[in-house]
Amino acid sequence: MISLSEFGKIFLIAPYNLVLYIIIVTPVCNLRCRYCGGSLHGMPEKISYDMNDLANFIEKDKEAVVAFYGGEPLLKAEKVKELIDILPAKKFVLQTNGFFIEKLGEYIHKFDSILLSIDGRKEITDFYRCPGCYEKVMKALKYLVDNDFDGEIIARMAVSYKTDIYEDVMHLLKYFPLVHWQLDAVWSNLWGLKEFKKWAEKNYKPGIKKLIDIWIENMGKGKILGIVPFLGIASRILHGGVTPPCGAGKDAIAITTDGKILACPIAPDFQWNVLGDFRGYEKIEIGEPCKSCDVYGVCGGRCLFAYKEKLWGEEGFREICEITKFTISEIKKHMNLLNKYKMELRYPPYNNTTEIIP
Ligand code: SF4
Ligand code: SF4
Repeated sequence: MISLSEFGKIFLIAPYNLVLYIIIVTPVCNLRCRYCGGSLHGMPEKISYDMNDLANFIEKDKEAVVAFYGGEPLLKAEKVKELIDILPAKKFVLQTNGFFIEKLGEYIHKFDSILLSIDGRKEITDFYRCPGCYEKVMKALKYLVDNDFDGEIIARMAVSYKTDIYEDVMHLLKYFPLVHWQLDAVWSNLWGLKEFKKWAEKNYKPGIKKLIDIWIENMGKGKILGIVPFLGIASRILHGGVTPPCGAGKDAIAITTDGKILACPIAPDFQWNVLGDFRGYEKIEIGEPCKSCDVYGVCGGRCLFAYKEKLWGEEGFREICEITKFTISEIKKHMNLLNKYKMELRYPPYNNTTEIIP
């Protein structure tokens, strides 16, 4: 259905079939990671809308997946529990730094996916995030395992200049069934394009090659390692997927604490990113040059925010495209094996907030 808002824009109103609703429970975070800068801005510290309005809004989507996000959502653990009790979602997802996981108690079992933020080896995680952070996250992991959590547990890394992609991913795979990462690129506090390019050539691309070799070697023996970007890329090669892969703006939206609807959760301050509110909203999508790109079917435009805000300029945009194309082409070298495991290589099973293309 289409209606005209009071501002004269064309807004979409139900029925939605959006699949992922990212609820920003609070913009506040207890940490101040080096690449992040801490809390989000541009919204109240706690949810100020009527939770029933949110429930009514989500109810129209029978396939709804709800993800709790922040800031650190478990700073408001009681609110998360209240929302779980009233929201008619098919799946629940949590992105957390793990510091307060025990506050959830039995509610851990309500979740289908829990993403714990950890950046790799102890010294790397503690450098980017805070001293003692690594131990806290490992304790949160132990809590989930000891309490028989049977959903997905995903190590969610941010990857920046101190990261050795091979070492850090391999380290986390010893403990976590699934490992995902995002590049600290474009909006980084820590480095610029020049340093990024050097690191990509010296560390990232060789590391990706080594990781793909190990992933393929294991697959050859019938074991599929949970390296999320590879699983997701292989899945998109074999089965396709939404664009952008995170769904932002079309297949996923974020809801601020004052009930605004955003395309992407990380950028509440950008006007293009504010799509509307519970009464209706505009969808937004990736356009050129991505739509004519030869890897669009797999890359999907990668990241809506980076596509809209080319903070490292056209050159920076092309540099990241080059890395994406490199990763895709390295994976595509193994099509025979990928085809053999076509049925198993479907990832994610639902939009669990892993953005797939790093
Ligand atoms: S590689 Fe670059 S141009 Fe091509 S689809 Fe991805 S983001 Fe767009
Ligand atoms: S991949 Fe980009 S557009 Fe998508 S949620 Fe992350 S920052 Fe936003």
